[in-house]
Amino acid sequence: MKKLLFLLPLIILAACTRDRKGNRGDAEFNGFEGRFVEALWKVYPAWANSVGYHRYDSVLVVPDVKDRNRQLDFCDAYLDTLKTFDQKSLNENSLIDYRLIENQLRSAKWYIDEFKQYEWDPSLYNVGDAFALLLTENYAPLEQRLRSFNLKLNNVTAYYQAAKRNIAKPTQEHTDLAIDQNNGVIDIFGKSLEDSIAKSKLSDTEKAQLRSKAIVAVKAIKDYVSFLQNTVKPKIKKEGARDFRIGKDLFGKKFNYDLQSSYTADQIYQKALKRKDELHGQMAKLAGQLWPKYFGNRKMPEDRLKLIRTVLDTLASVHANRDSFQSTVEHQLPELISFIQKKDIIYIDPAKPLRVRQTPDYMDGVAVASINAPGPYDKNANTYYNVGSLKRYTAQQAESFLREYNKYTLQIIDIHEAIPGHYTQLVYSNRSQSLIKSIFGSGSMVEGWAVYTERMMLEEGYGNNDPALWLMYYKWHLRSVCNTLLDYGLHVNKMSEKDAMHLLVDEAFQEETEAKGKYKRATLSQVQLCSYFTGFTEIYDLRQEIKTKQGANFNLKAFHEKFLSYGSAPVKYIRELMLADMK
Ligand code: ZN
Ligand code: ZN
Repeated sequence: MKKLLFLLPLIILAACTRDRKGNRGDAEFNGFEGRFVEALWKVYPAWANSVGYHRYDSVLVVPDVKDRNRQLDFCDAYLDTLKTFDQKSLNENSLIDYRLIENQLRSAKWYIDEFKQYEWDPSLYNVGDAFALLLTENYAPLEQRLRSFNLKLNNVTAYYQAAKRNIAKPTQEHTDLAIDQNNGVIDIFGKSLEDSIAKSKLSDTEKAQLRSKAIVAVKAIKDYVSFLQNTVKPKIKKEGARDFRIGKDLFGKKFNYDLQSSYTADQIYQKALKRKDELHGQMAKLAGQLWPKYFGNRKMPEDRLKLIRTVLDTLASVHANRDSFQSTVEHQLPELISFIQKKDIIYIDPAKPLRVRQTPDYMDGVAVASINAPGPYDKNANTYYNVGSLKRYTAQQAESFLREYNKYTLQIIDIHEAIPGHYTQLVYSNRSQSLIKSIFGSGSMVEGWAVYTERMMLEEGYGNNDPALWLMYYKWHLRSVCNTLLDYGLHVNKMSEKDAMHLLVDEAFQEETEAKGKYKRATLSQVQLCSYFTGFTEIYDLRQEIKTKQGANFNLKAFHEKFLSYGSAPVKYIRELMLADMK
């Protein structure tokens, strides 16, 4: 049932189109896109906030049935409007946007109607990020941000009350996560807020109001945590929890909505299985080749996995030290650029240099290196290449970290994160100027590209075909492959924890702690871990397809630049347009 309120704008839109004959072109579609995005942010203020759109910062949406209906109405209304555009009248760019919008709307409906995460994932309910952003992001004067904070506090109690009503049969894993994370955000309303209040020029009345509302918010969060601990957990103990494994049907559908791939989840899983076996074969061959160099006449282990592990362990000892870590990463970048230029791989815009910096404290300790990219509303801001500082590590932890990110692996990471991986892709993507593609960009295209460039660079001869670099690359690549095997294995094939650990530790040569972390992540998420290998496979296959078609006319640089010219669209659509363009 639609409410009158949401029918109104639709009728007006429909009336505008009626007196026009034939197709509505791109200009009209672009106008529609603008209105759509504005409306989207109104329905999803938290999402708006996270991409740097700050008009609805003071709004905290109560996640109740009324809100879900409002989302459904929004999706239905815009799906109807979309149908009034003739896809044939749109140019390539608009056509991709059209499909991205359509997928987003259908996907949002599916999440509510079928996936129903709001019933079984208590960790969905967490006000931390929404409030923390107002204190940490310096997009407006502090006083203005604190006034938004003040207004936003009004709904915290209702927010958690709705959360409690939504939870039907939760999983054990998401319940534990919710307890941990909600406990972790209380500080935002204590010390962090107090520090900001102290620095601000708010009136004493405003300050007092903020403080007293913050006390109410903390009470609501603590009440939610104690509900999970004292009501939900005992109930789980008595009646059993929902399995974190979502099963074949939901996994397959989520895969289609989230990744928008031309392959199904089953096809990607089969490809990953095959790839793992091929990689083990190639790795054993390289390890055998390297053996005499490092072990002389010592007898080679007969088991191929043992042989590979022994050689990998030895190669890991070639690494930077704690103080030279960042400069090692930094020095590699110009070498990558000059190799790319020499081999004519892709154009690198010299006007957009990448700034390398130490990972800021608040995000340190999560990743070895990462790209900090400006959001769609802030395109001209600097892009940073954050490199982990190792500050928090003991000598022993630092050694283990440096072995993991040894001389060989670091080169692969620089390719993946920076050039020609994520950073280069981002520069091209920002040129495509489509807000829709930034907002609904395909994670699997973005990750797939970075994973693709690792292999492409080595194939082009980066590192002079050093077998040690290839072997370490294969280990790294095996990680993407096993992410898929783990994700699909757990959720669809009901793989046990023991088998999961065997896959990661024995077959993918990961450290025990890393493998445990990965297993935990796989119990809490679904499909995301498949995105790396899926995107990689699609891009690699597309390149093969075009190579075959073009024969001697194939040009790697032209392929790369054309491929990246469509923004961060799903590979499936890029493929369609590239093939059509060749005709
Ligand atoms: Zn060492
Ligand atoms: Zn990546």
